[in-house]
Amino acid sequence: MPSAPTLDSLLHSAVTGVGGSERPGQTAMAQAVEAAVESGEHLLVQAGTGTGKSLAYLVPAVRHAFEVGKPAVVATATLALQAQVIDRDMPRLADALTEQLGRRPRYALVKGRRNYLCKNKLSGGYPDDEEEGLLGIGEVDKAAGRLGQEILRLREWGEETESGDRDELVPGVSERAWRQVSVSAQECLGQRCPMVGECFVELARAAAKDVDVVVTNHSFMAIDSFEGRQMLPEHDLLVIDEAHELVDRVTSTITDEITPGMISAAAKRVGRLGDTATLVDAGDFLGQILEGVAEGRLTGLPDNLALALSRVRDAARDVQSQIKPSSPAENDGARQMARAAVDEVFDNAERVLEDRELDVVWVSSDPRRGQVLRVAPMSVAMLLRDKIFGERSVVMTSATLELGGSFDAIAGQLGLRGEGGPRWNGLDVGSPFDYPSQAIAYVAQHLPAPGRDGTSPAALDEIEALVRAAGGRTLGLFSSTRSAKAAAEEMRRRFGADIPVLCQGDDQTATLVRQFAGDARTCLFGTMSLWQGVDVPGSACQLVIIDRIPFPRPDDPLASARSQAIARMGGNGFMAVSATHAALRLAQGAGRLVRRSDDRGVVAFLDSRMITARYAGFLQRSLPPFWPTSDRALVLQALKRLDETAPPVLPVATPALRGVTGARDDARMAPAPEPAATTPKAPAPEPEPEPEPEPVMLEVAPEPASTAPPVEPDAAHAGWSAEDDEELRDAADMGLTAGELADHLDRPQDEVAGRAAQLGLVLEADPA
Ligand code: SF4
Repeated sequence: MPSAPTLDSLLHSAVTGVGGSERPGQTAMAQAVEAAVESGEHLLVQAGTGTGKSLAYLVPAVRHAFEVGKPAVVATATLALQAQVIDRDMPRLADALTEQLGRRPRYALVKGRRNYLCKNKLSGGYPDDEEEGLLGIGEVDKAAGRLGQEILRLREWGEETESGDRDELVPGVSERAWRQVSVSAQECLGQRCPMVGECFVELARAAAKDVDVVVTNHSFMAIDSFEGRQMLPEHDLLVIDEAHELVDRVTSTITDEITPGMISAAAKRVGRLGDTATLVDAGDFLGQILEGVAEGRLTGLPDNLALALSRVRDAARDVQSQIKPSSPAENDGARQMARAAVDEVFDNAERVLEDRELDVVWVSSDPRRGQVLRVAPMSVAMLLRDKIFGERSVVMTSATLELGGSFDAIAGQLGLRGEGGPRWNGLDVGSPFDYPSQAIAYVAQHLPAPGRDGTSPAALDEIEALVRAAGGRTLGLFSSTRSAKAAAEEMRRRFGADIPVLCQGDDQTATLVRQFAGDARTCLFGTMSLWQGVDVPGSACQLVIIDRIPFPRPDDPLASARSQAIARMGGNGFMAVSATHAALRLAQGAGRLVRRSDDRGVVAFLDSRMITARYAGFLQRSLPPFWPTSDRALVLQALKRLDETAPPVLPVATPALRGVTGARDDARMAPAPEPAATTPKAPAPEPEPEPEPEPVMLEVAPEPASTAPPVEPDAAHAGWSAEDDEELRDAADMGLTAGELADHLDRPQDEVAGRAAQLGLVLEADPA
């Protein structure tokens, strides 16, 4: 493409077209993406909030696609970002670049099969499904209750939808109803399906071959890579946004589980196709054994559990051979569903029994499903190295990739470090915000270190003082649901009607966030999904309170297994796993405060270890460079002044309907323009006058799928608080022996040594 427009001119058109101004960080990032594509190397690029990073990768991606005639693939972790790219960024970018490129860039969204309506199933191609009869028109009426009504709605929608994409359905339907009209990849009949020619999934994937940018999610991209890149079109540039989430998403994708309920459901699916009596018995036996197994990680499979799993595996193998079709014609929808269900039981039982070196196995209690046996890989680093970073350039980007001031921790988790690792570069393009003058990082050093009994009375007093000074406007980020609820209840009691306090779980999180964003005096307290996904710019959020350093739970099976493995190899398991996890969460949580160039406020840490602990420097270096202090009076004064001079909160848009293309009807009014940029870390500019505030579309990331048992951190491991664990870690680092520590903690030595082993810590040997 000799006369192709340059990257700089395309970026200029794109930025102008979306009504922004050029930003040095954005330009640097776009150039680095292009250089990565040309050199075939990989790139880790940290771009702070306000950089405009999506344009910085979309413009070189489009340019590359035009050059090579193949699409570039963009993978996001959250639906919120996926919607932003497909509904807002790409349409604006395509409009802005059409003239220079000679045609409008094309783009498409590609997702897993379960996200689309299955025409074959809707037409009765899976007659023996669980809810047989509900799909028959004559049998569904209002009396069938909510499920029946939902299926009626789905049938009507199925007649008119052009894409069959579940996200178009507003309001949505229950998972149970959706399963009646969709199939998994394993259940799909593929080329044997009588409706494959008009299948929504097949049409969407065929259309994606003909576009310039394909947008997808981390899990789908990962499965596509692991299975030999069959589902996404051929590409040589992959951009992974929200890259800090990739390891967790991939781990969730390849986490398997087995429950007695799953086995009986598989047997039910088989129905008259085979004899499942032995499988049902084996499932019941497994259920009895699991009842007697305590929650937590299993280091070595107990004999009775191994026996139960062997029975399940063997019975499933027997059913597999019974229901194998004797000819392709015999493999109808019902048989395919049954085979998929039995295959899953067999595969998962077999995987646990194989006792693979890197697999971690644990039991968790689910209030609905009872005891669940789970298995997940301890590390996905080598898998990512082999399958994701193959013969294509991969650009990984996020606002938080550097932890403790370096890319090393994340690069290690991604499989980029060590012998034989692929070539990569790291780049921090900074942030256009002037963090030191926009925000204060306050550590309440006078408070006692957080203990096992939840938020201390002194910490509750501190929350009250801070919130009163801020006039509400507070996002409270807690490390456990129990602490968030207790603090919310106590503050409601203290504030009365003066300052409303919402708590996650009171209503849908998105509704709570809208209430919080719409009223200056309202506060919102909550946990995990608020740490990462809340985007409330303006004066509604001028104080973010973080109750304690968010270390992984001491009994988190994956974290403890990783920590121990690193310790065994001579590394520091605590720093590599727990401190890295905490640093990432803290950076994400603190990042909720400053969303625009004129946002001002305070992040308050109620955990003195942010200053006193030996790892404090590592955590501090992972945060945006806010102005640090532990001066309480100064902070209270600053909050009061900010409250007195605060502009009105930004108007909040109500949720929009989605059109048939998956785009939101109001895509062009979604989030208010990002602020103009300056050189990273340059002295504070006068904030550019911002346009009349547009209604802000608030997005909340879904709660990340938890792979750990649902145990409150403080309830874990009776008798060992997070504080005790901290002392153990400090002791390990200082070279204390188990005996010395036993004296210090007034506990038996073998208990101390056992707990240290659980945490992956190596204590010095006691003198003989
Ligand atoms: S090809 Fe698969 S998903 Fe598509 S209609 Fe047929 S069975 Fe359903």
